[in-house]
Amino acid sequence: MELKYTRTNVYKKADGKELERIYSFAEDYKKFLDSAKTERDAAVTAERMAKEMGYTPFSFSEKLSSGDKRYLINRNKNVFLIKVGSEDVAKDGVRIMVAHVDSPRLDLKPNPLYEDSGLCYLKTHYYGGIKKYQWTTIPLALHGVVMLRGGERVEVCVGEDENDPVFYVTDLLPHLGGEQAAKPMAKAIDAESLNAVVGGLPEIGEDEEEKECVKSAILNLLNKKYGMTEVDLQCSELCFVPAGKARDVGFDRTLITAYGHDDKVCAYPEMRAMFDSADSPHTLISIFADKEEIGSEGTTGMKSRIVQDVIDTIAQSFGANPIEVRLNSKCISADVTAGYDPAYSSVYEKRNSAYVHCGAAVSKYTGSRGKSMTNDAPAEFMGWIRDVFEDNGVIWQTGELGAIDVGGGGTVAKYISNLGIDTVDVGVPVLSMHAPYELISKADVYSLYTACKAFCK
Ligand code: MN
Ligand code: MN
Repeated sequence: MELKYTRTNVYKKADGKELERIYSFAEDYKKFLDSAKTERDAAVTAERMAKEMGYTPFSFSEKLSSGDKRYLINRNKNVFLIKVGSEDVAKDGVRIMVAHVDSPRLDLKPNPLYEDSGLCYLKTHYYGGIKKYQWTTIPLALHGVVMLRGGERVEVCVGEDENDPVFYVTDLLPHLGGEQAAKPMAKAIDAESLNAVVGGLPEIGEDEEEKECVKSAILNLLNKKYGMTEVDLQCSELCFVPAGKARDVGFDRTLITAYGHDDKVCAYPEMRAMFDSADSPHTLISIFADKEEIGSEGTTGMKSRIVQDVIDTIAQSFGANPIEVRLNSKCISADVTAGYDPAYSSVYEKRNSAYVHCGAAVSKYTGSRGKSMTNDAPAEFMGWIRDVFEDNGVIWQTGELGAIDVGGGGTVAKYISNLGIDTVDVGVPVLSMHAPYELISKADVYSLYTACKAFCK
């Protein structure tokens, strides 16, 4: 019996076969990530993959039976995958895995388009917690939808194909940036200056003195390509995200940098684990949540009643008491945590941080200022999940998000546990979280997959 606890480095323990599995899973993850930059993109990708796995559309008025595989796409942004098991749901409950698929980015304002000094711009309103200076001077792609008058929905994606143009938010040259450099970092870039350059070719009309001739030319281009006018932007959801694909990092390719690891690095493993658990006797639900980065509000966030409605519909299908089903259910809230970064060691508590390469990170609680606003998983449930992981050879570690009183964070765990469901955060340690390009370890995303699979078994 091992008396002392020591963290395990996945790469140190992995043999050739295991390394192969880790690297091959990472290739699949990168493909998913490139096709799921926004919650809408993730919903489209999840629907396609679910259909390929034999899932069919879910209805709240249907009576489910054992073996059924269903998907529910809530308003194109929030996904539920449901696989009904053979166990009695009244006693066994359901096993839920939930990750979010929205990530910090620059949304467009309702009246975003303007021209100034010969260039045309789109004004943005940032979404989620960003360090504003990081979003200047990088190639940006535009993703989203525009509703035309009469209900036609137009999809927009510009900047991802290597032949596409990209968009660009400027920053000050250092020669003139003395005053800016002396400001606190959070104030160095004003949110109202996060405006993306989108064009500069003037429209040569009959009236050479016409004002805003670049803006007119851009509107003409948009009208030709999408059939839209300026007012249609008021009924759109368009956002700028970093352009380009996920890339391996390091001579040994042990890591991946990409936009939106938080939280697609958990969404993908939970979905794959569900697909790879076809023979599980349990009823499984895999959720892709929206709006986590801005408080989980609204119809597609995890504060929405729809989570309970889905569980209750399953309960009713078997004539089970929905309260009993919920109380016997279990949930992995799959979200990222801060990986220990030696360059910034002072904000971490090194004995309780999660480390890259050391496996899935279990956070009993998150929150801030003395565990405020968090789900704090009971010892009994921690004990249960530890047994599940250890029985199945899952490499895992604990992870607190930073030192006490430095800051903190939250996840959707509390909204699920508020339904009476035992819930714990299990995720992947991330370096540079919420930056345009974040960093994770291939070993950790694979460990989370094995953790989710053990949970489904
Ligand atoms: Mn997250
Ligand atoms: Mn986040």
